This record gives sequence, C-alpha cells and structure tokens, in this order.
Amino acid sequence: MSKKRVLITGGAGFIGSHIAEILVNEGNEVIILDNFFTGSKANVSHLMDFKNLELIRHDIIEEILLEVDQIYNLACPASPVHYQNNPIKTIKTNVLGTLNMLGMAKRVNARILQASTSEVYGNPLEHPQKETYWGNVNTIGIRSCYDEGKRISETLCFDYHRYNNVDIRVIRIFNTYGPRMHVEDGRVVSNFIVQALQNKNITIFGDGSQTRSFCYVDDLVRGIMKMMNQDNFIGPVNLGNDGEFTVKELAEMVISLTNTKSKIEYKPLPSDDPTRRRPDLSLASEKLNYTANISLKEGLLKTINYFDTFLKNEKII
Ligand code: NAD
Ligand code: UDP
Repeated sequence: MSKKRVLITGGAGFIGSHIAEILVNEGNEVIILDNFFTGSKANVSHLMDFKNLELIRHDIIEEILLEVDQIYNLACPASPVHYQNNPIKTIKTNVLGTLNMLGMAKRVNARILQASTSEVYGNPLEHPQKETYWGNVNTIGIRSCYDEGKRISETLCFDYHRYNNVDIRVIRIFNTYGPRMHVEDGRVVSNFIVQALQNKNITIFGDGSQTRSFCYVDDLVRGIMKMMNQDNFIGPVNLGNDGEFTVKELAEMVISLTNTKSKIEYKPLPSDDPTRRRPDLSLASEKLNYTANISLKEGLLKTINYFDTFLKNEKII
C-alpha cells in the first residue's frame, strides 16, 4: 500500500491510539490532533520517537489548515460520564468539529472517515440493529448531546458528499473495549475490570438485564481501516461484535476471570439507558468481508492483563 499523509483527530484516545500505532508502523506520515480531554500523551508515548509522527494539541472546534490524504475523525468523548460532563462542548465537537474536518477534506480533497455510533439507534425498537433502521432517540435527554451530535455529524458527512463531492466513509461503532481505555473512563468494561482488580464493589446500573455487544479493539480497528481503504462503499456501516450479553453476565465473567473478592452492588439505572443493543453485521460482512474474531472472554483477559499492569505501575487510587 502506498504511504499516505493521515490525520487522526482524537488520536491520543483509546481507539485513535491503536489506529495511529498501525499507521505509523506502516511508514505513513501521521498527524494526531487531540485536546487531551479524555486522551493522553501516554497512549502514544511509545510512538513519539518515530519521525513520521506529529502530535498537535488542538481542539477540533477551532479551524486548522493541514494538508493530508486521509482523515480519521474520532475526536469526541465516548463515555457517557465524559460526554455528559459538558454536553454543550460535546455538541460543539460533533457539529463544529465535524464541519471543520469536512471543510478540510473538501479543501485538500482528502477522504474522511467519521466515527459515528450505535447511539444513533437510541433505545432501539428493532433488534438487532441494521443500518436501515432510523432509530428511537430522545432529543432532550441526558444522552442527546452525544446521540443527536453524532446523528448530525452523519448528516453533515452526507450533505458534504452530495453537495461538495467529499469522499466520506461513515461507520457506526458498537461498544468497544480494550487496552488504553482511560482507567476512569466510566464505561462498563473498564469500570468492572478496575473495580474487580481493586476488590471494590462491581457497580451494576439497574438490574443488569440490559444488553450490549462488546467488541475487542483489534477487531474494530481492522474493520475501520478496511472501511477507510476500500473505494466503493461510503456507508454507513455497523462495526463491532454481534455477541450479545447482559450487563450482569459481563459482571459475572469479570468476577470469574479476575478471581476477585468484589461483590455486585446495584445502583440506579441512568435515564435513557438503552435496554438492548446488538449490531447486524451483514453489511460489514458483505462490503468489507468483516467479522469479529476475538471472543469476549479472550478480549477481557487481554484487557484485564493491561489494567493489572497499569494499576501496579501507576499505584493510583
Ligand atoms: P476516547 O474518549 O478514548 O477518545 C476520544 C479522543 O478525542 C480523546 O483523545 C479526546 O481527548 C479527544 N477529543 C475529545 N474532544 C475533542 C476535541 N474537541 N478536539 C480534539 N480532540 C478531542 O474514546 P474512544 O472510545 O477512543 O472513541 C473514539 C471515537 O469513536 C469517538 O468519536 C467515539 O464517539 C467513537 N465511538 C466509540 C465507541 C466505543 O465503544 N469505544 C463506540 C461508538 C463510537
Ligand atoms: N453500566 C453499569 N455499570 C457501570 C457502567 C455502566 O451497569 O459501572 C451499564 C450502563 O448503565 C449501560 C451499560 O453498562 O447499561 C453500558 O454502559 P457504557 O457506559 O459502557 O456504554 P453505553 O452503551 O451505555 O453508551
């Protein structure tokens, strides 16, 4: 594959840092833009000696002029705790930030991949969720800044494509986990693992009967890069793992894999928390030959290993 100039917004975050690692090792000229809200230099510190990597502290809601061939637009806090911390900022990131990146793609004729989300389906009335489903989203709830923000980011992509011929790729990511999630990220997999490793109570919100489909980061990143580097399909396409588990099942798996003394503690369910979520991956399979290969157990073991090492080295909390 020919070497490219690639911009990754949110490249110091969880998913972005894995993409950066692959692109840098392939010899591409990589620029990471990040405001370090939830990401960190530590996530990419192992890449800093590479001459083909540039790290820029920048907020995508502000304009920037760069010349690149491809843009992975990942900048946006993904954990409910973080995107609800400043919901107006989350909307600005998704609207103004995506506008700025689409404007850049238009100006320099770059291909842009937008990281959208299963949240565009809201609390889905169809199960599993296909790309043709338009969703069931509350416009005024605590998750709306993210859900509606991502929905408008998709709209912006398709309007730039229709009106300005911008070369877009839109992916809808389902719950992904793995090494380099922030230790205080707040999402369920990292929460349960960190709680278990510290023998603290495992906090289940609600009765734990809600479901999610958990994808290990390596599977997701393979799908993202396939989507970026094929020429005939702009999406939107679901990416994730279609194994479906209740939150209670996840807690029990983490407890058994860590041998923790932790007990389960039930806490109130946040409002608008989707009750079921599973991707229909047939489009990803047909167009990208994508399947997720890593089982939940295998992915959890790798992630437990990461947090175990991290917590021992950092001696935090
Ligand atoms: P993350 O929070 O680890 O990464 C987001 C990165 O974006 C961080 O480095 C953060 O500092 C940066 N950022 C946030 N706002 C910014 C801004 N205004 N300007 C510049 N940088 C900014 O989360 P992640 O899980 O790696 O998610 C990456 C992308 O994938 C996000 O767009 C998210 O919405 C999307 N996504 C992730 C999941 C998942 O399960 N991990 C699911 C659906 C969608
Ligand atoms: N959850 C939980 N305990 C936690 C964190 C999350 O029970 O400590 C639940 C949450 O209510 C939701 C599911 O786990 O039903 C997934 O939450 P997460 O924040 O990971 O992502 P979401 O898919 O809701 O955006």
